[in-house]
Amino acid sequence: MALPHVLGVDLGGTNIRVAVLDADGTIDFTARTQTHSEQGPDAVIARIADLIAKVAADANIGADIPVGVASPGPLNPRTGVVHYTPNLPGWRDVPLVQKLQKLTGRRVALANDGNCAALGEVRFGSAKGCANLVYLALGTGIGGGVVTEGVLIDGKNGLGAEIGHTLVSLDGPRCSCGAIGCLEAFASGWAIQAEAMKVATTADGDRLKELAGEGPIHAGIVARAAAEGNAAAIAILERAGRALGASIGSFINIFDPEMIVIGGGVATLGEALMGTARKTIPQYSFVDMRKDVPVVYSSLGGETGLYGAGALAFMTFDKA
Ligand SMILES: [Zn+2]
Repeated sequence: MALPHVLGVDLGGTNIRVAVLDADGTIDFTARTQTHSEQGPDAVIARIADLIAKVAADANIGADIPVGVASPGPLNPRTGVVHYTPNLPGWRDVPLVQKLQKLTGRRVALANDGNCAALGEVRFGSAKGCANLVYLALGTGIGGGVVTEGVLIDGKNGLGAEIGHTLVSLDGPRCSCGAIGCLEAFASGWAIQAEAMKVATTADGDRLKELAGEGPIHAGIVARAAAEGNAAAIAILERAGRALGASIGSFINIFDPEMIVIGGGVATLGEALMGTARKTIPQYSFVDMRKDVPVVYSSLGGETGLYGAGALAFMTFDKA
C-alpha cells in the first residue's frame, strides 16, 4: 500500500524541525526545538526522537510511518552515519539512523540536505514530474543534487554529488573545501561577500561600504548596489554569474538534465546574478539542443529541508 504520509526531520537550520508530509506535499503538524548541540550527539538525538513522538501523537499516526532526515553532511546514507556537520559541532561519525531507529521504533532514512532538496524538487517542487534534474543550492556555501531517470546520483558512499565543488578555474580563489577555484569559491554567499570586501578596499567600493555601514558587505548589499547601477557591484555579480553559467553548462554536458533548479538564499538575488549565468550557459554546453534546458528557481522556499526529508522518506520506503 502506498504511504499516505511520512515524517520529515530538518537538521539544517539553527533548530530541529519535524513535520508530517502528505503524499501530495502538504506539510502539517510542524514542530521545532532548539538543537543545543553543546550537549552532545546523544542528547540531540533524544530531542529529535521526542519531537518525532510529539508530532506523531499530534497527527495520530502509527509506528509504521517512516522518517526521512535531511542533514548537512558529509554523511553516509548507506550506513546512516553523520561524519561531521558544521551546525552540530562535536559530531564525529555519529550513527544517527541506528540510534534514531532504536529510540523511535520507526524506519529512518538519512541523506545530505542538497540531495534531499533535489528529491524534494522532483517530488513536490519546481521539477515536479521531472526525472532528470540538476539542483543547485546557492547559500552561504553551494550544495546540490543530481537526479537521473528518477534516481539520486550519489556515488558509492552517498557522499556525491557535491556539484558546488565543480572546478571553475585552475588558479581561482581558495575554496572552503581546501581546493582551488571551485564554483563555491566564486558564486556562494561567502565568496560574493569576500570579493565585495576586497573591492571595498579600493575607491570603486565606496558605495558598497556606504550601504554596508558597520556590517559585512553581504551578497544582498552587492545586489542593492548593482540595482542602483553601481559598476563595481555589477562586476562582482557578473563574475559570480559567469562561474555559475560555466558550471551549469558543464552539468548540462555531463548529465543531460531536463531542468536546472536553483534554490538557496543567494538565489533570491534573482536575475541580477542569474542573468549573466543564463547568457554564459550556451558558451559551455556544446550540444545545440541542450542550450534550451530550463533554468528555474526553486518553489520550495524556506521549507526545502522538510520537503526534502519527506521526499527522501517517500522515495526510500514507498515501494507501492
Ligand atoms: Zn570546493
